[in-house]
Amino acid sequence: MKPRIHYTKPSITELEVRYATDAAANGWGDKCYDYINRFEEAFKAHLGVKYAIATSSCTGALHMGMAALGIGPGDEVIMADTNWIATAAPIVHLGAKPVFVDILPDSWCLDPDLVEQAITPRTKAIVAVHLYGNLCEMDRLFEIGEKYGISVIEDAAEAIGSVYHGKRAGSMGKFGAFSFHGTKTLTTGEGGMFVTNDPDLYVHVLTLSNHGRARGQIKQFWPDMVGYKYKMSNIQAAIGCGQMERIEELIYRKHEIFSYYREQFKGLPGILLNPEPDGIVNGAWMPTTVFTSETGITREKLQAAFDEENIDARVFFWPLSSLPMFDPVQSNQNAWSIPERAINLPSYHEMNDDEIVRVVSVIRKVTQEMA
Ligand SMILES: *Cc1c(COP(=O)(O)O)cnc(C)c1O
Repeated sequence: MKPRIHYTKPSITELEVRYATDAAANGWGDKCYDYINRFEEAFKAHLGVKYAIATSSCTGALHMGMAALGIGPGDEVIMADTNWIATAAPIVHLGAKPVFVDILPDSWCLDPDLVEQAITPRTKAIVAVHLYGNLCEMDRLFEIGEKYGISVIEDAAEAIGSVYHGKRAGSMGKFGAFSFHGTKTLTTGEGGMFVTNDPDLYVHVLTLSNHGRARGQIKQFWPDMVGYKYKMSNIQAAIGCGQMERIEELIYRKHEIFSYYREQFKGLPGILLNPEPDGIVNGAWMPTTVFTSETGITREKLQAAFDEENIDARVFFWPLSSLPMFDPVQSNQNAWSIPERAINLPSYHEMNDDEIVRVVSVIRKVTQEMA
């Protein structure tokens, strides 16, 4: 059996280990926020935003941000049917309803026309999820948001390194949320970040993030409201500081692997890879191939072919509306049909050339069998 190729794996060097060790040994008492503050500063500078709050997860960042926007019972939040459930869960926890709309066939992100059609008097927000590093059509979504007085939120968990006409993914919306889960481009094990340019929203989320204790409150153990506990630890932030010093390298390598796949798949019939149109940089968190229906290439065929080569290739997200806790929206044709003929390709930073070639040859073989 050939050695296993994993689909993601963090890139951890001596630097991250050194910082984490220092945080564990010395990062207490007066120093218990040092790495957290440093991580937030570095992230702000990278993204070009005014405010950042490190969190225990992206889910937590989304939950607090949505709560601060006043999303609650009876409200609707529009999002793409294609996504990880983490974006929908906070909406449900707040008593609101996720409204699932279809994706575009090429970017696999929100279809803006369908977003506009889905707006009702109860719509409170639109969540733009930059799927697999591909970017949503932000100009159109902002136009719609403005027209109806609705906030546009960015879930940029998968879009570190993605740039939309000069602006980094996550820096454009009412707020942005990032994930540093072990599978993501930049990791702290578990972790996330809330970012915004809105000073009031920042102060509100800062209070929520500290169990409702306002920053200026001098009374000890005195929350002013019921908040949340989604804080990042100083030890996790220490790993994040190491990763931030290497962020250009981490982003570069993801794009390099993606570009290699793109080059190798050029000319293969019926295959689509993450798009990178003019004016856009795709952070390429997850290189993904989608085949046209005409090819007859299915998820199951792809899974079997990769299994045979001991390669861990993952399935494209199931439509959220197909899950047992939601009502099915089968009219979301792209969201329902694309996963049946798609697969995520391995892309961790330390993949070597042989491993990349092994992945490419599986895709080549599958397309040849079809011919
Ligand atoms: C990974 C991911 C999340 C969840 O991140 P956590 O840090 O695990 O909460 C949210 N949204 C998207 C699009 C993701 O890919």
